[in-house]
Amino acid sequence: SLINNGGGHEPTLNTDVDDPSHPLYHHRRIVTDFDYGEILGEGSYSTVLVGRDKRTGKQYAIKRLDKAHIVKNNKVKYVMIERDALSRMNHPGIVKLYWTYKDNRSLYFVLDLARNGELYTYIRRLTPFDLETTKFYAAEILLSIEHIHSRGVIHRDIKPENNAKPTHKASKKSILLDDNLHIKITDFGSAKIINESENASLGDGENTTATSARSFVGTAEYVSPELLRSDAVSKEADLWAFGCVIYQMLSGKSPFKAATDYLIFQKIKNLEYTMPNDFPPSAKDIVQRLLTSEPEKRFGSAATGGIDAIKEHPFFEDIDWDNIFTSNAPPLR
Ligand code: ATP
Repeated sequence: SLINNGGGHEPTLNTDVDDPSHPLYHHRRIVTDFDYGEILGEGSYSTVLVGRDKRTGKQYAIKRLDKAHIVKNNKVKYVMIERDALSRMNHPGIVKLYWTYKDNRSLYFVLDLARNGELYTYIRRLTPFDLETTKFYAAEILLSIEHIHSRGVIHRDIKPENNAKPTHKASKKSILLDDNLHIKITDFGSAKIINESENASLGDGENTTATSARSFVGTAEYVSPELLRSDAVSKEADLWAFGCVIYQMLSGKSPFKAATDYLIFQKIKNLEYTMPNDFPPSAKDIVQRLLTSEPEKRFGSAATGGIDAIKEHPFFEDIDWDNIFTSNAPPLR
């Protein structure tokens, strides 16, 4: 694991770099290997900066996490989950974690730089997206979700926008865009690792209720109904969020919009949303299938044919699944 909190109050990096799954294996990096530049964004416990590798000149996004702040707020577990989940990923649609290192105050994650920032910014400015643009981004998001699930992880926080009424300083947006306007999914701090890796011994005293509750924080609009029913959350929760994203790209708003989190949750529980008349039939159909309350019956569940069945849906008719990440993204304007 990344952080051992054994003994003192100072968390320390796992020194087990002989473990091949450890990101420091072979290629240990230190703070002074990089030049630090512009601030890309700030989270509750972190600052994300542009970092330049002094040796190669390559630029990264470097997430700097304040150790004392993390420990004080009991977030060690989530930082570990984020690091463990990210280090399992190897896909063009997902931010790659290259190295981690630390100094006295901070932990550092060296990540792919998503230079064009948040998909949300474009959704806010440019929606409704045309069908071609929506299909393109939906297809990239779907392939990324497929990869996340194939690596034994549920993301649980797929979304382009922050909540209307954040309950903490939440600016969590998990869908970013790279130089070429292709997507990069990030923010695995709410993820669930389904098949635990051996070194992922969690347990910082928080129980599972706290874990579920955490998924509510600042994230009302894309919460799945099973989470609201306190049922076990499975991979299908990400497909619910995926349905919400398609709806939002095509219409400009999220399907279960309301003034308060409570009202949003009521709408989600009652599956209370309206399908815009101007959605093309194939879009109406895929959204409706994805926004199914019961995860077992939701489009993309094992019983409905898995993610392959979604790829074969008429909505994605002319998508070239094998080459989408090397194709030109549609112009966002
Ligand atoms: P919180 O921790 O409060 O939930 P967060 O998860 O968004 O917020 P960070 O992961 O520190 O916090 O990200 C802060 C901001 O930095 C993001 O909202 C995003 O705008 C930007 N950012 C994060 N990662 C990258 C990246 N790889 N490339 C470019 N910008 C990024």
